[in-house]
Amino acid sequence: MERRKFLKYLQVGSISTAALHFANNDLFAYPINRHNLDAKIEKKPLITSDIYLPSSQYEILKSVKNKLKLIQRHVGYGNFNIIGFDKAVSIARWGRGIKRFTKEELSFMESIYYYDPSIHGFFGQRTSHSLTELISKKEVVKIPRTGHYLFKGKTVETYTHMKKDIGNTIVLTSGVRSIVKQMKLYIDKIDKTKGNLSKASKSLAPPAFSYHTIGDFDIGKKGFGYSNFTSRFALTNEFLRMRKLKYIDMRYTINNKDGVRYEPWHIKTI
Ligand SMILES: [Zn+2]
Repeated sequence: MERRKFLKYLQVGSISTAALHFANNDLFAYPINRHNLDAKIEKKPLITSDIYLPSSQYEILKSVKNKLKLIQRHVGYGNFNIIGFDKAVSIARWGRGIKRFTKEELSFMESIYYYDPSIHGFFGQRTSHSLTELISKKEVVKIPRTGHYLFKGKTVETYTHMKKDIGNTIVLTSGVRSIVKQMKLYIDKIDKTKGNLSKASKSLAPPAFSYHTIGDFDIGKKGFGYSNFTSRFALTNEFLRMRKLKYIDMRYTINNKDGVRYEPWHIKTI
């Protein structure tokens, strides 16, 4: 990405009116606020509401989503959790049945990584600063039968300690996530919310902002399936026992400042 354009992405946060979002041609950098546009037409006062991905970006979102899915299939679920960006780009180029990323798709992924999500209500901290940052295999350990990795040191020690104190009914549901993995999850979420960036980022951090990239992990109850990622997890015995452990810290408490939903399953390690 050209330096000038890159800087422009970084400045997004200081420009926040719907009028500017609308006037600018660089649509992803200044997503359109549908509600405010409607309000303008109906001559109602501007109301703060959800920010959407511009519809012109949908096709690119879909093609990137599909390629990331194929790359994950190519390298396997476990390996995809720690894959670097350059590696992913190279697999798209050379892997069987996948096509190389186009310039537009690469630029879309750069925008998704570098833009400022505070424009749609996400206020978390950046946990990485370059799209091509790598996770070294030496820094992580694979947790058997989970498809996930954990960082060596405090993270894996916390997990082991929890297993010992709570028992074998707890399971690691998500560990280390590389920037590419978080990008895939975020793009899937944007698609699922039909482009609603405000809604997407309440349940999933944008790719430069995930603490999974540097140490946090998610815990669940064995056999509880998708419910592990809902507030129902807070009603399990496993959670109640977890709350009694002094060394456990929750990242996303109720009404947290990051603008993320309540996540009782997400363990803070840093
Ligand atoms: Zn998490």
